[in-house]
Amino acid sequence: MSPEPTGGTMAELVVENIVKTFGDVYALKGVSFSVKNGEFVVLLGPSGSGKTTALRCVAGLEKPDRGHIFIDGQRVNEMPPADRDIAFVFQNYALYPHLTVFENLAFPLRAVGTGKAEVNERVQNVARILHIEHLLHRRPHHLSSGEMQRVALGRAIIRRPKLFLMDEPLSNLDALLRAEMRAELKRLQKDLGTTTLFVTHDQLEAMSMGDRIAVLDQGQIQQIGSPDEIYHRPANLFVASFVGSPAMNLVPCRLAEENGQRRLIVEDSNWSLPLPPEVARAAQEGRAPSRLVLGIRAEDLSVSLSASDGAVAAEVYVLEPLGAETIVNVLIGPHVLKVRTRPTFTASIRQTVYMTWNQEGVRVFDAQTEKALG
Ligand code: ATP
Repeated sequence: MSPEPTGGTMAELVVENIVKTFGDVYALKGVSFSVKNGEFVVLLGPSGSGKTTALRCVAGLEKPDRGHIFIDGQRVNEMPPADRDIAFVFQNYALYPHLTVFENLAFPLRAVGTGKAEVNERVQNVARILHIEHLLHRRPHHLSSGEMQRVALGRAIIRRPKLFLMDEPLSNLDALLRAEMRAELKRLQKDLGTTTLFVTHDQLEAMSMGDRIAVLDQGQIQQIGSPDEIYHRPANLFVASFVGSPAMNLVPCRLAEENGQRRLIVEDSNWSLPLPPEVARAAQEGRAPSRLVLGIRAEDLSVSLSASDGAVAAEVYVLEPLGAETIVNVLIGPHVLKVRTRPTFTASIRQTVYMTWNQEGVRVFDAQTEKALG
């Protein structure tokens, strides 16, 4: 889609300390985040974490009990949804059943008196991007749910609103189309430069699309950061276990003295590691927690069939070949760890292999507070 000048269509969204209850359910317990001009922010969280409620508050479809919502510095808590200049796509998209796909897409443009030639061009552009050109003359009840979802998306993006709000807009698409639409939607957002808040429970979608990700759980923001920060420096055990496929390996460990040196010892195992700098600092200052959790990503572990200096003997639990890579599950004591290897790696169940690790990839969490150290 050829981008048009975006002057005047950009906006900044600031959500400040929002609380929203439904009866005695606290859906949002003081949520704050911002979306800068032109930024693509993903609200990521499991089912029931409060994502849709947060989006509906921004749209004006729910009124927060407390807190503030600002669009371009203006507090909009009391502003009706129609005045907020927001386009939203929700999971339950409503198309006009008596209108064709073309007319559904054209509707928001006609509503503001856009000329016929421009309507035509913009509908064709959006239809091309969303691969629905062949559906323009159909009515919604002759569409699959994935097709309807794309029409709903098209109807939102055809406008030039200040803000896009999207609630799982790709959820009804099959895996292939979903992957393609992720890239298309991201590119489109960059071309248009429209400030976007996108809700999903799919961490892959969040990682691949967001400039920044705000991770939500139980009505509270757990961490806000770039996909890289969220993936490599999870702030707590929830984020570590929710983001990434496979999820970060997490095993209980403690500090212990070994040959006159303080090391991290993985409980009930033969694996001991040097202290990462933040743990060494905490230990020196006497504030290292007694119970710790070690976190390490599958790509920061390697296995080999032959022993080497510093490698830890492990037992093969099972192999998961994924085509481009194989995930080798190994047992270290009672703990199953996932190790990313080349697809050519083979070993049999119960075989002894030798595991090494990238010390830079080691993260340590306080087992009690569940927060990352450092
Ligand atoms: P999902 O991914 O399943 O849509 P979500 O993260 O969007 O989940 P919300 O729909 O925002 O979560 O719901 C957050 C919490 O608020 C849940 O416990 C939900 O049951 C509750 N809730 C949401 N809307 C209402 C409502 N209208 N009445 C009562 N409870 C509600």
